[in-house]
Amino acid sequence: MFKAIVIDKTDAGQAARIATLDDGDLPEGNVTVRVEYSTVNFKDGLAITGAIPLIQSFPMVPGIDFAGVVEASDHPDWKAGDRVVLNGWGVGERHWGGLAGKARVNGDWLVRLPDAFTTRQAMAIGTAGYAAMLCVLRLEKLGVKPGDGEVIVTGASGGVGSVAIAVLSKLGYRVVASTGRPEGANYLKALGAAEIIDRNTLAEPGAPMQAERWAGAIDTVGSHTLVNVCAQTRYGGIVAATGLAQGIDLPATLYPFILRNVTLSGVDSVMAPRADREEAWSRLARDLDPAKLESMIREIALEDVIPSAGDILQGKVRGRIVVTV
Ligand code: NDP
Repeated sequence: MFKAIVIDKTDAGQAARIATLDDGDLPEGNVTVRVEYSTVNFKDGLAITGAIPLIQSFPMVPGIDFAGVVEASDHPDWKAGDRVVLNGWGVGERHWGGLAGKARVNGDWLVRLPDAFTTRQAMAIGTAGYAAMLCVLRLEKLGVKPGDGEVIVTGASGGVGSVAIAVLSKLGYRVVASTGRPEGANYLKALGAAEIIDRNTLAEPGAPMQAERWAGAIDTVGSHTLVNVCAQTRYGGIVAATGLAQGIDLPATLYPFILRNVTLSGVDSVMAPRADREEAWSRLARDLDPAKLESMIREIALEDVIPSAGDILQGKVRGRIVVTV
């Protein structure tokens, strides 16, 4: 028997509860994992509160990521005792997810946990941190080097933003953090931000072309913020966009792209190929300082997830919520 969060369909929409399940309840899959830690990502907040209709079948165990130990496997790559991490693939949306004592999944979705990380650290990183690393890799692959100039990170105090700042600064970039929480400046500076800017300077409609500043950008916010970031990006600069905390709209003009050679590059973590995932996790093991990671963590029990799921949508969470399963 193990505990899980279960979301049921109701007349009013959906409702989340804590349930006790056993192995016979688990869905189809060729690997069963004993989950040690999961997290509450922005998407989990959306799924658990039902803020948008993300869940595609009911009942659903939410949790878009988990880290744990393989208990049983019919998959050639995995055997009992292997330490694994899972991010995305529709887990927690279409297939039962990580906010449970056990998960049964397709072994193709799993990544071997680097020796550098405990399962707790893996979930302190979670999908937010892994997506942040995919963004850093995108900037690198499209040619942004530390000497090229400043890199802005928006949604800086959030999960993606925090990990992006820590990794970029370790790699030698000068990182400017955009935040709505100036009181958190010490936290962001300790992660490696060289300068903090008020997110309100980016949040409203702005001129289509603005003074050139950024050699690169990691945007987790979307909407006017992303448009203004593109309008301030230097000739040939790269903007990696992965999030929508402000909104899904993109009220932009073409000018930065066709007059300044700016590249706007979308980053998805959910369906990323396995090779990209393995590269991101191994680079996190190399480029993320464990002490900085520790400073991002707020740890909660499975029982605390439902009451605190709305916090992340209201921008009240700093860094990462780790769930002890
Ligand atoms: P968090 O909630 O932890 O962080 C989001 C941050 O954005 C907040 O901490 C806040 O930072 C800022 N923010 C919140 N609301 C607003 C607003 N209205 N206007 C401007 N800024 C705002 O979420 P995550 O870091 O986990 O995720 C960030 C985004 O990235 C989400 O939209 C998420 O869905 C997306 N994402 C996408 C992935 C993909 O595969 N494409 C993978 C992972 C995440 P501050 O207080 O510092 O301003």
